[in-house]
Amino acid sequence: MSVKVAVRVRPFNARENDLGAELCIKMVDKTTTIFDSKSGATRDFTFDYSFWSHDRFEEVNGYFTPIDDVYADQRKVYLALGEEVLNNAWEGYNCCLFAYGQTGSGKSYSMIGYGNNKGIIPISFKEIFQRTDQRKSETKSFEVLVSMLEIYNEKIQDLLVPVSQRVQGGLKVRESKDHGVFVEDLSKVQAADYEEIEKLMELGNTHRSIGATNMNATSSRAHTIFTIEFKQITKEGNRKMEKVSVINLVDLAGSEKAGQTGATGDRLKEGCAINKSLVVLGSVIEALAEKSMGKKGNVVVPYRDSALTRILSSALGGNSKTIMICALSPATVNYEETLSTLRYADRAKKIKNHAIVNETVEAKLTRENTELRNLLEELGGKDKIMELNEQVRELGGTEKLKELKEQIAALEKLKKEGMDFGTHQIKQAAAENEFRVDISGPHIKNITEDQQLTGKVCYNFNNVPLVAGRKNANPPCNLIFASSSVSTRHCVFDKNEEDKITLKACDEKSSKNLFVNGKRFEGTIILNHMDRILIGTSTMFLFKIPGETSELKESDIDYEFVQDEKQKYDEEEFEKAMPRQSVRASRALSQVDIPLQSHRASINAPFAPPPPEIIAQPVEPEPVITEEPSPFEQHYEEPLSNKKILHNKLAKLFPLINEANMLASDLGKHVKFSAKIINILPDDVREEEDLEPERWEKELKVEVINQDYGLIWYWDSDKFEDRLCMLRELLDEEVMPSPDEDPLWDPPEESLIGKGYYSLKPLGLLFDNPFDILIISAWGGDAGYLRMNIIPVDEAGMILEEGPDTPEELIGQLISFRVEIKEARNLPPAHSNNVYCEFHFPGLGIRRTSIVPGYSEQPIFNWKETFNNVLVDEALASYMQTNKLAIRLNGTGMAMKVETPKKQIVRPKNETTEAKAPCAETKMEENAKKHQTIENEMKDKQKNNAKGDSDKNKANQNTQNKKKEGLEVEKSGTKKNQSNAKSDKKKDCIVF
Ligand code: ADP
Ligand code: MG
Repeated sequence: MSVKVAVRVRPFNARENDLGAELCIKMVDKTTTIFDSKSGATRDFTFDYSFWSHDRFEEVNGYFTPIDDVYADQRKVYLALGEEVLNNAWEGYNCCLFAYGQTGSGKSYSMIGYGNNKGIIPISFKEIFQRTDQRKSETKSFEVLVSMLEIYNEKIQDLLVPVSQRVQGGLKVRESKDHGVFVEDLSKVQAADYEEIEKLMELGNTHRSIGATNMNATSSRAHTIFTIEFKQITKEGNRKMEKVSVINLVDLAGSEKAGQTGATGDRLKEGCAINKSLVVLGSVIEALAEKSMGKKGNVVVPYRDSALTRILSSALGGNSKTIMICALSPATVNYEETLSTLRYADRAKKIKNHAIVNETVEAKLTRENTELRNLLEELGGKDKIMELNEQVRELGGTEKLKELKEQIAALEKLKKEGMDFGTHQIKQAAAENEFRVDISGPHIKNITEDQQLTGKVCYNFNNVPLVAGRKNANPPCNLIFASSSVSTRHCVFDKNEEDKITLKACDEKSSKNLFVNGKRFEGTIILNHMDRILIGTSTMFLFKIPGETSELKESDIDYEFVQDEKQKYDEEEFEKAMPRQSVRASRALSQVDIPLQSHRASINAPFAPPPPEIIAQPVEPEPVITEEPSPFEQHYEEPLSNKKILHNKLAKLFPLINEANMLASDLGKHVKFSAKIINILPDDVREEEDLEPERWEKELKVEVINQDYGLIWYWDSDKFEDRLCMLRELLDEEVMPSPDEDPLWDPPEESLIGKGYYSLKPLGLLFDNPFDILIISAWGGDAGYLRMNIIPVDEAGMILEEGPDTPEELIGQLISFRVEIKEARNLPPAHSNNVYCEFHFPGLGIRRTSIVPGYSEQPIFNWKETFNNVLVDEALASYMQTNKLAIRLNGTGMAMKVETPKKQIVRPKNETTEAKAPCAETKMEENAKKHQTIENEMKDKQKNNAKGDSDKNKANQNTQNKKKEGLEVEKSGTKKNQSNAKSDKKKDCIVF
């Protein structure tokens, strides 16, 4: 029996509608098609069910009602999936229903539902109790036990106990021969009717919500497992028959982080427990699918690698009927994510399980007694326990033994509690009134990213003042939020003389992280009905005064709404992150407009490119030969949504960056995070194009400057988010990581300084073209100049005197030319370490100059290579005519403005990176020394010069001397580099 797989696509949400989202999903019968609006590619997938819930419905009394049979409403989904779960449970099979998909794709909507649109779980249980009510009798009784747990960061928490009673480090998963896998100490609550189940779910969600605010957790990264043990007991005289079915309903964490393992290539990814369960679930599904398809060899299913898969091992691979519902976001913005969800679903449907009916027939002996017997057998009596204990003591220490020891303790406990394994943990649901807050007066209620948890936590203002902050505050705070972006004592709610509720930040730092309706404010503010309060980066509340009205609808105010309104005030930061425009860019391309004759003339003349200052002047556009706009211009139309998408991504990123900066500072690290929008610099640039980087595609990166190590990195947002998670953990656990687990460190990273574009038109006419090409920076603006030349030569390596009139004349001929890359100038200080150039000449492969070791804004490459006897075919002739050669400049990011590093730098052991990249501190020392020497020498010169500084002429000469000396110092520096470069050449040049 295969795992049944269903996919369901939700409507656009308000935000997507605002963005003018486009649809990327189509469904016909069981086939779901996803199309990529960029490439036009489509992919088809077939599943057991494809539910279209995107449109073709209307709201009737709060229920989304189909207007024709295309739309799948909650009832239709229940009938297809839930009813099957129910029937299976009735027959005594174990069942498992997973909801998979990215955050906000509709997992909870399908599983639990919102308002009148009840999901599979509530409908199923209503039906269960209806059936049991109808069928219970003298001889037949039913028992429903409920438990609910959450897995966050590999820690398991019982959601049916108050947050204050949570076990630090979480509950443990145990395994025993007879009970299989179970969670130790997890409460199981007996539910007499559906209403009780509903209350328990509500309670569990409230605990989740409180847990999330208290534990600095991102709820969308938690998995929730709602388990129902459904027992049917039939009595016949002295005989008692039991049929037990365990139903696991699993609302998985947002999948957005799961599909991307490896994609970010983060060396610490494995260590980031936050993703572990979802990643391992993927591997388990993969392995099971392989097994089911009869893959030969020993397929190991890695159940034990994560808490989630351990708990669900039988549901996944063994005795269970399993259904997976994959929730899809319909908008093209989510194309990648949705495709990855579809792939996941596709693999899952290949799994085959073998479910069996869980029926135990025992005369007189209750099931519990069997358990007792089994357990005693397993333990081998008291002696066995002592013996094991003895062994543990002797061997001591190791993880394995620790586990064994805990296992013994757990089994001992079971034994003490009278062996009533099935029910021993039944507890009454936590005090019902625990969270009943009087909300008849002004109050605040929480807003979370996970809509299911929104409004679950309320506070009133019966007793003011109320101070909000972190748990370790002194004096303690009244409202505790563990978010790392919340200060120890953050803000105070109070009442003024007119009995109005007021809010004020506790200090300057907190006031930068406190917003009402998206805005910061000075001093004390009076709160109005429906005001949105944002504390730190993600702790949000809605302020309400019962009886007052507002134009805003409460249902419109969600997490994104609050982030959005704050974002409006963050526009400046958005502008800062945009790459700067380059005034010089178009000038650089006009190099070929310089009459070619002058190049010929310049062959023997001293090389004198225009000084950068002159180029830097905004120049009049060169006279255009034709009136027509360039083809590039004609076709260019900024995809409006691209900018919006970027904007959108930034809006999400800013609060996280803010938080990361606060965390780093709390941890005493000198690390600065900022958002950067980076140009994606093309490799293929045509002659006629004006280089206008602002038109090129952009990519969002997080710039990380680690002053402790003197390094700069550019992380993509996924890697950044993972690292942020690790940082949060650090704060929670208050232990410093060993250097090679430090989320604020990475090996020195090579990055693209920029690209220059060299015209090949002169080569097509066998002219040389010595030129300073402009380097266009990936971060916007210019990144200096690169002096290069391509010189056509004869067989003896001599410069040619003659050339053809048109490049076509060369077709069929062999040409030879020498590429010379001399030096770069005015490179950006922060990135000019270990610089080298790289280019790809069509048909000739990639070439690299040697690395100029160390720090230099003016690296001298003096790199030459002659390409002999290159056949000019039509393609090459036309390429030289129409295209430019792209030259990349790469360097290692170094934070040069390092103020005395605060601590001894311990570099993580990482052999591969050590071999490749120069180590940060030696470079820093070297650079510092070099700068020091230059500075000292300059000072000496100045001193000497100052002595004879009597007349104007001399002074002038001195200045010149200084310049010259400075130059010489640099030259001697580069001489060393050159010789290094030579010896490095073999290593660094790829020879094809
Ligand atoms: P997830 O649990 O995957 O994070 P939710 O189930 O909370 O996502 O859904 C996010 C939002 O989308 C909610 O406001 C929900 O009401 C809405 N939504 C999801 N699926 C549907 C659907 N099929 N029809 C209507 N609204 C939906
Ligand atoms: Mg959800």
